[in-house]
Order: sequence, then C-alpha cells, then structure tokens
Amino acid sequence: MKQHKTDVIIIGAGPVGLAMALGLSQQGLDCTIIEKKPGDKYAEPSDDGREIALTHRSVALLKRLGVWEAIARHDLGQIKTAHVLNRRFASPLSFTSEGTGKERLSAMVPNAVIRKSLYAVVRDVKNITLQFESEVTAVSTHANGGEVTLDNGQTIAARLIIAADSRVSPARQMMGIDVEKLDFKKTMILAKVAHEKPHNDTAHEWFQADRTLAILPLAGQHCSAVLTVEHEEAEELLQLDDTAYAARIENWFEGRHGKMTMAGPRNAYPLGANYAKSFYGPSFILVGDAAVGMHPVTAHGFNFGLRGVETLSDIVAGAKRRRQDWAAPALLAQYNRVQRLATRPLYLATNFIATLYTRRGPLSVLARQGLHALARKVPFARQLINRQLVDAGRS
Ligand SMILES: Cc1cc2nc3c(=O)[nH]c(=O)nc-3n(C[C@H](O)[C@H](O)[C@H](O)COP(=O)(O)OP(=O)(O)OC[C@H]3O[C@@H](n4cnc5c(N)ncnc54)[C@H](O)[C@@H]3O)c2cc1C
Repeated sequence: MKQHKTDVIIIGAGPVGLAMALGLSQQGLDCTIIEKKPGDKYAEPSDDGREIALTHRSVALLKRLGVWEAIARHDLGQIKTAHVLNRRFASPLSFTSEGTGKERLSAMVPNAVIRKSLYAVVRDVKNITLQFESEVTAVSTHANGGEVTLDNGQTIAARLIIAADSRVSPARQMMGIDVEKLDFKKTMILAKVAHEKPHNDTAHEWFQADRTLAILPLAGQHCSAVLTVEHEEAEELLQLDDTAYAARIENWFEGRHGKMTMAGPRNAYPLGANYAKSFYGPSFILVGDAAVGMHPVTAHGFNFGLRGVETLSDIVAGAKRRRQDWAAPALLAQYNRVQRLATRPLYLATNFIATLYTRRGPLSVLARQGLHALARKVPFARQLINRQLVDAGRS
C-alpha cells in the first residue's frame, strides 16, 4: 500500500486528540487524525451524561484554539461555590473563587458540546486530515520519526506520533510503556435532573455512609446528579424507573433543591484510574486519558488533557522560533517532565480522597473528620485547594 508522510499522526479523535490537532496545526504542522469509529459519532456525539467542569486555564486554551465561541453558544452552567460534606449536611468544607480574582470556580459544559464544537472547528482546518473507520494496529518509531499501520494494511509515516487513544491506549501497549492502574470497585451513575428550587451555582459533594452524591449546578433549574455506589447497588438502581430514581436522589439530598424529576438518561461508569510510567518514547508521546486517567471526583481528566495540548504546542512553537527540530528527543523529554509535574500531585491526591472518602468504618470516618478540621483551620490549605479548583493558569 501507498506510504503517506505527514508531520504528526494523532491516534484517536476524542476531545483531547481533536484539541491537540488544533494546537499543533496552529504551529503550522500538518496533522492526520486516525479514528477507528465512524465520523458521524464525532459530528453529532450522543449525550454521555458527563458534565465537564472546565478550569479558567482550560477555557483560555479553548479560546486560543478558536473553540470556545462555539461552546459558549450553548446554555452553560457554572460553579461559584462548592461544599464538601462528610456524613451530615452540617459544617461543610466550602470553597469559593474569593481571593482568586475570578468570579466562578469553573464552567460546566456537557461533554457532547465540547466534542461537537471541537469537531466543527477541526473539520474546516486545512492542515488537519481526519481519517475515520481506521484502526491503528501497529506503531513503530525511531529517533527521527515513526509509522503506524492500519487495519486495512495502509501505513502512514510521520515525524511525531501522538497517542490520544483512551485509558486502554492500544498504542501505549504497542510501544511497551507500562501503566499503573487502580480499580476503585465502584460505579458512578450520572443523570441530569430538574428541580424546584434554584441551585445558586453551588455544587455539593456529599460523602454519605454508603454512597457519594454530588449535585452539580447546570444551566437553569437543572443539576447533574452524580452517584457513586458499589457495583451491585448500581445494577439495582439502573433497573428503577425514572420516577423512582429521581425520588431516591431527592431523598438522599434531603429535598434541599425541592422536588426532582429526571431530565435525561442515566449513564454508568465503572471507576478506575491509570498513570503511564512514561509519557514519551522516540518520536512518540501520550496525551489525555492515555497518559493520565483520573477518578472524576476532582474533575480534572480533560483539564489535564488540555494542559498536555498547551505544553506541547508551546514547546513546538519555541523550537520553530529557534529553527530546531520540534520533535527532538530533548523536547519530548521536556514535555514528559512538565506534564508529569503538572499532573502527578493531583493524581495522587485524587486517589487518596477517592479511597478515604468512600471507605466504610470508624477509622476512615475519623480520618475524614480530621482532614476537614485541618482544612478549615489552616487557611493556606483551603487557598491551595481553591487555586487548584480555579486553575487560572496564564489567562
Ligand atoms: C463520569 C466522568 C466525569 C468526568 N468529568 C470530568 C470533569 O468534570 N472535568 C474533566 O476535566 N474531566 C472529566 N472527565 C474526564 C474526561 O471525560 C476524559 O478525560 C476525556 O474525555 C478523555 O478524552 P481523550 O480524548 O483522552 O480519550 P477518549 O475520549 O477516550 O478518546 C479516545 C479515542 O481514541 C479512539 N481509539 C482508541 N484506540 C484506537 C485505535 N487503535 N485506532 C484508532 N482510534 C482509536 C477511540 O475510538 C476514541 O474515539 C470525566 C470522566 C468521566 C468518566
């Protein structure tokens, strides 16, 4: 079959792969995106229930990529205040954007809106080629480039190969990069609900005895009800009809937003986390969930993916200014260093929180109470968490 040559091959047309193509095309690079699924899934993505809390830094990058305008045409929610509750509703640990110079903690955007908007922009960019219904079955690289083989036998060569091919990341496996994995042995059920009382742009993350319930504000009088339970309980809850399920959520939230009714389907996700042992190889990098797959409790998976786009785009821009090889081993090592430093602390903290807050037993309850008391008493700790939530970045 015919051998093609492009600057960059991106494996995966998920939100991070599409954003990466935009970032690098803005630096004048020709990008080819290879995606195994058909194109209509990307032009009109279905609602997967995910409501993505975007940091200010991510919004700034999406503006730079020319995508934010399309996103902002939709009705969006925002989080101005977040309460973290341990067992009882009283004495929450609260976060606001106060002192950060921003009027909200984060914007709330449906994942389908992000994906659709990215695709709409990417489709019209001249130096991006989208190739759907093509699965990458082999990857090989050396210091000066690499090539991928597709399931139809075609091979494509490029200076740099980027894997944005999900948590499972077949390309990561093909490159022999190990990954550490965690299974939280829980299921998260997401559902959009309508309610009687206003939510005042306030998010609640409530760690109850047998479950975690997050009620996240969306546009209008709607919230995303995010429930984390054991797998068996999730199976039972998914069998309930809409009225019974909404009543459960309303009851577990102690009716604080008034009567609740379902405003969308339920989507369920088993919860895990993954962190690749390295984010690079010769002429190869990992980005998005292929590099870092986060537990959703701290809402940072896609934000980290965008950070990777920003990091690599800036490195390429610098190399081009200096007329250097923009995929030189030292620059890919720099990407690896910067991106690990940006993600590792929150990855570990998130896993700690997800484990501590969902574990039963008196010791865990005590530890959580201690942690809350500490965070309340030490303003510096709260400010640090506030800053992480807002992540104003360079905007
Ligand atoms: C319940 C939930 C809530 C979340 N909330 C937030 C939040 O509030 N904030 C936040 O920042 N993040 C959040 N996230 C995380 C966010 O959704 C992910 O980080 C993001 O979608 C990852 O995108 P990606 O492009 O890296 O991977 P994916 O979306 O998984 O895309 C990978 C693509 O690669 C393709 N592919 C795979 N293998 C091949 C192959 N061999 N050849 C060709 N194509 C291939 C796949 O078909 C797919 O299209 C949440 C996640 C969940 C589950």
